[in-house]
Amino acid sequence: MLLFMSSEKCQCASGAGKQIWTPGEHIVRRTFAAAAAAESGGGNSESGALVAPLLGSRAQFCSALFHAPPSPEWGNDEAVCVRHASFTLRAKADCRSKQVVALAVLRDSGRTLRYAARYTNCWRGDTERTVHAEDWMVRDGELERALATAQDGELTLYLSYQPCHHSGGHHALRGRAHAKSCTRVVLDYAGRVRRTYGVSLLIRCCNVYRAHWRDSMHASERDRLTYSPKTRAAQQGLRLLLRSPLVELHSMTARDWQFLWREFVDSNESLSDEHVAQREALDRSVRAFFASLLACD
Ligand SMILES: [Zn+2]
Ligand SMILES: [Zn+2]
Ligand SMILES: [Zn+2]
Repeated sequence: MLLFMSSEKCQCASGAGKQIWTPGEHIVRRTFAAAAAAESGGGNSESGALVAPLLGSRAQFCSALFHAPPSPEWGNDEAVCVRHASFTLRAKADCRSKQVVALAVLRDSGRTLRYAARYTNCWRGDTERTVHAEDWMVRDGELERALATAQDGELTLYLSYQPCHHSGGHHALRGRAHAKSCTRVVLDYAGRVRRTYGVSLLIRCCNVYRAHWRDSMHASERDRLTYSPKTRAAQQGLRLLLRSPLVELHSMTARDWQFLWREFVDSNESLSDEHVAQREALDRSVRAFFASLLACD
């Protein structure tokens, strides 16, 4: 039974949804000064400089992309967390991944940053009505305009988790799969963007959702029956992405974390070596997991 009314409207502020940023707009954009200046004939544009960093504070950045709870599947006893500048405080941090986030970063063929936008999942009363972060990207008309100016460039999509593939929800759906597949949405989009603008799509995946769960680790038989089909669907979606000539799918690297921190986080501090090292261990697990999916069917 649903606890909240399902509707076509955003209910993210209702308490049922979980927001990282308030107000909770689902598309927040940044245009880069160089790109804006080029379009206005070299004028002195201030756009970009006036916009708050897209990923916000250290704590918001952690909730959005960096954070991972302890995980037996990855062999992690402790949370991976950057909420506190001090590495020793991480285990005590009241922090968690709250909302699925996609950060799209567009570069032109000269590697110049042209456009970036942050998209977040929108809760609408039940999981089958959720508007996923990837859906907002596909609907973003400003990104479309930026793509037209970035011929032969690259669009990088940093995701909290891999795109879903009939793998969402918390109920056993009585023999039918969850309708939603962002894997299909992203593959269609990548094909169109490449044909239309010559721009290629690269996905950087910060963590894995459900695909790495093992049947033996479920607490009850009921959980196993509910989640095991979702795990297999999630694995299938990952294989589609990993094998597709339309997209590249990779785990994160230390370089990616440093880039996101420098460019999109509101902080004068730098990322500590300990935080980066802890995160790199998780990224290696994600990389190895992707490789294992390709090795077996
Ligand atoms: Zn955290
Ligand atoms: Zn919403
Ligand atoms: Zn999705």
